[in-house]
Formats: sequence, C-alpha cells, structure tokens
Amino acid sequence: MDLTKNDSPYFLSVYNRFPFEIDHGQGVYLFDTQGQPYLDFLSGIAVNALGYQHPAIEKALLKQIKRNLHLSNYFLQDTQKKLAQRLIKISGYNQLFFTNSGTEAIEGLLKIAKKWGKLNHKSEIIALKGSFHGRTLGALSITMQDKYQQSFLPLLPNCKSVTANDITELKRVVNENTLALFYEGIMGEGGIRPLTPEFITAIYELKQKFNFLVFADEIQTGVGRTGYFYYFQKYGFRPDGFATAKGLGGGLPLGAFLINENLTEVLKKGEHGTTYGGNPLACAAGLATVDIVSQKEFLNHVTITGNYFKEQLQRLAKKYGQQIVDVRGAGLMLGLEVREKASELMFTASKNGLLCNTAGGNTLRFVPPLIIEKKHVDEAILKLEKTLSEVFGH
Ligand code: PLP
Repeated sequence: MDLTKNDSPYFLSVYNRFPFEIDHGQGVYLFDTQGQPYLDFLSGIAVNALGYQHPAIEKALLKQIKRNLHLSNYFLQDTQKKLAQRLIKISGYNQLFFTNSGTEAIEGLLKIAKKWGKLNHKSEIIALKGSFHGRTLGALSITMQDKYQQSFLPLLPNCKSVTANDITELKRVVNENTLALFYEGIMGEGGIRPLTPEFITAIYELKQKFNFLVFADEIQTGVGRTGYFYYFQKYGFRPDGFATAKGLGGGLPLGAFLINENLTEVLKKGEHGTTYGGNPLACAAGLATVDIVSQKEFLNHVTITGNYFKEQLQRLAKKYGQQIVDVRGAGLMLGLEVREKASELMFTASKNGLLCNTAGGNTLRFVPPLIIEKKHVDEAILKLEKTLSEVFGH
C-alpha cells in the first residue's frame, strides 16, 4: 500500500496516515469523504469516550459558546471550577492543574518532582522500559523507548529505566537518591501491557522504604477506559499524583495533573502556568463527559462490554494460534499481539471498515468509544476475522 500518496505537502511528514480522508463522525462510526463508514475502534486514540456528536457534549458546548470561548487563568471560572470539583471528588485528590494535553500534564508532575527533589536532596527519576509519557522534552526523557528518544539525546539527566514487571531489577535501581517513579498501570503505546499486581505492590513497598514520589500516568487508562474511572483505583494504592488527558475533554484538548495533600505547597505563585489549559469550552465538554462516564452503571457497561470483546478476541487467538501471540488489557483498552504483519492487518482492517492502530510494534490496539454496545463488538470481530483470513490466508 503506497501511503505516501495520502500525504500532504503542507504537513511535517511524521505520520503514516490512513489512505482516506475523514469527513465526519456519528455515534461510533466515522465517515470518509466518499461516504464510506468505518467502525471506529481507535476513537482518536482513546479520546472520544462518548463517540461523535454526543447530545450531552453538544448541549454543553453550545451553552458555553454563548458565554465565552477563552478566559485567562487570572479569573476563576465556574465551568472549570465544576470540573475540578468533580475530578477531586471522584479521585479523592486535593488539588489539580488543567493543561491542554497529556504531555503537559506530565511536565507539570515533573516540575513538582524536581522541586520536591531539591527540597529533599534526591535526584533520580525512574520510568519503565516501553513506557510512553509524551513527546515534549521532559516527558520524552521518561518515555523509555529508543525509537522516540534516540534522535534527541541528551535529554533530562538522572532519568533511569527499569524493565516493567521485573521486581528484582526495580529493587536494584531504587535507592535513597530516588526522587520519583512514573508508571502507566497498563502501558498503552508500549503495546497494551498491564503491570502485574505484584510489581505495583513492590513499587509502593519501596516507596515506603525510600520515601520517593510515585506518579501514575492515567492519560490513556483514565476516564473510564478500563472500567475504573482511574485505573489506580483497581489496586487501592494511592500515587502522590497522577496525569489525566485524552478522554477527559470528550474530544476537546484537555488534560490535568492532580496531587495529594503532601505536594500542594511545592509550587509557589509564578512557578507554573498556562494560557489555554482549562479552556472553558474544553472544560464544558469535559464536565459533560465526566458526568456520564463516572456513573457506576456506565463503568459497569465498560467492564461488561470489554470482557465480552476480550473473550471474542481470545476466541480468534485460538483460531489463529500460529499468528496471534497474546490478548491483553482491561475494559475497553485491549491489545491483540501478532507474530508479524501488524501494520498490514491495521490497513486491511480499515479497508474492511474497522479502525484500530498498532502499538508496541506488533500489537493491534483497540480503544473504541466507551459507548459501544455488544452489537458493535460483534461487528468488529466479524471485520477482524475477515481481515485475519485475508492477511494470514486461512
Ligand atoms: N501518556 C500516555 C500514557 C499516553 O498514551 C500519551 C499519548 O498517547 C501521552 C502521555 C501524551 O499525551 P498527549 O499526546 O496528549 O501529549
């Protein structure tokens, strides 16, 4: 497939784009400029939690448009305030800072970490091999994948990597000088790889012993994606802070980092800020999204639909035992690892009307809108089965 044909001379060519152009979305489908429908199991990479044209989001946006599109953060704003209150209530954390993106939320946590480290005479930051925390230079320094870091070295000093789920290595690397550890409960970009409960437990045991900060990156796993509003809630451990974005704005650019009481005094006035972070339109869409997603029945729906989807993927894995290596993930964040040809599968699936992408090289990543129903899973599985038989030839 010649993808260069679909590139535009106007954009930096840093993306392998799908060979069609999207016109609009409706529900859980996207439609290209030729009117072709696609069942969207990518949802803007885990962003469009409520799909497209959701009435609650449209209503909230229309209301906000008539008030203001942007205010500086020198003013308190009720839409922002309501969303902040809601997130603090849901998470049990003390304070937050709104950003425009995931990577900015990580930058904020890194700044808190660095300042806390100065005060506590600690300097080393640990992240996991295969992690993805963003592409700005701070976040990139803890995105422990050569393919993202190599061209931009040197990055932030004193950032060390540990193999995910390797408790022995973790114990070897952590020490008195450890300042912070960042982790994704399920590594998304790294190929939908969940951390084991034992490894997560070890992180928090070592935190107790050496007194370092633990930050969870909930940018992909958060806002209901795994069937928990935030994935760290599953194990009952409390990181010192966490980053959230993607699904949070219901399709508008919005992120935040939230911190525990122990960190609320670290940054002083003037030490951090943003022009657009917490934009009123984004917060209005965010509030509508969070109101729906945080409902218990909604989160149960994600778990039930996700379990059903996982079972169906496991059935395919049995049928294609030679080619499919593993099925991983939780809720509606699932990965299907293949021995080879992941990209070909992704493009063939799109030709068959199903959108997903690849993560960690050879894993197909499925992060559909959280509103999908069983019938959409059945449709996706049919399309995937057709794709597998076309690519693997049986
Ligand atoms: N952290 C995780 C776990 C992510 O999945 C991503 C994006 O894929 C980011 C951080 C960066 O977020 P953004 O692209 O909004 O900067």
